[in-house]
Amino acid sequence: MKKAVGLMVCMLALVLVAGNAFADTYDAVKKRGTMVCGVKDSTPPFGYVDQKTRQIVGYDIDFCAAVAKNLGVKLEVKPVTSAARMPQLMEGNIDMIAATMTKNAERAKQIDFSHSYFLTGQKFLVKKDSVKALKDLDGKKIGTAKGSTSEQNAKKALPNATILSFDDYPQAFLALQQGKVASVTTDETILAGMLSKAPNKAQFEIPNIQISDEPYGLGMRKGDKKFVDFVNKTILDMEKSGEAQKIYDKWFGPNSDLPMPRTFKIVADK
Ligand code: GLU
Repeated sequence: MKKAVGLMVCMLALVLVAGNAFADTYDAVKKRGTMVCGVKDSTPPFGYVDQKTRQIVGYDIDFCAAVAKNLGVKLEVKPVTSAARMPQLMEGNIDMIAATMTKNAERAKQIDFSHSYFLTGQKFLVKKDSVKALKDLDGKKIGTAKGSTSEQNAKKALPNATILSFDDYPQAFLALQQGKVASVTTDETILAGMLSKAPNKAQFEIPNIQISDEPYGLGMRKGDKKFVDFVNKTILDMEKSGEAQKIYDKWFGPNSDLPMPRTFKIVADK
């Protein structure tokens, strides 16, 4: 018991020291000359590998690039999973999360979020004509990603379903294609993005069943005020200048692979 308490005190001290060491990301990044952004690498159009250039590109990466440019530093992107993104940030391996991450009160106990820079909601990807209403999915096997809000929301909305959590959404989609799950559930735009790249997309659909709102925030370390303020000012300025709309149109505009009207603007949190 004594040992366990001792260990916990040591760990707490470590966390505090680590927290302090990374407390001022703004100055640290400026000094280093590089900002490291944690992004998805298999979630089009937010973060995925471009087949031609082999570079990770996407909506989230464009926001990271805009922040890095405004700071006057180079951008480095590191792939993260839904489950690993907060630990990676808190351990100091990345400076900011831009990885389809929903801001919510529970997560905000551990990290700080920017104002919302994207808005979507959770839906289901299913075989065509297999699901008409939410109740058609209860009692079924549903795939999603570990450490996501999708996992938690699905458990609440479908108490009799078996939720299978994969490392990422493409793995869950593979399970759907192999008939191992009846549906993949996560944010509509992630499902639609994945579907848009699938060769057999005609066999699947996303019925109009939404179980949550998912506003995305850029994640930063808790109490990292100068950096959080800088990032917030950057994205509000991007909205004013039209740059945010331009990035939206690049990935979701009428000439993109995934045309969707923009239903939000970037505004300061109340
Ligand atoms: N936006 C949701 C979340 O932050 C689902 C997508 C994801 O796993 O990144 O958990």
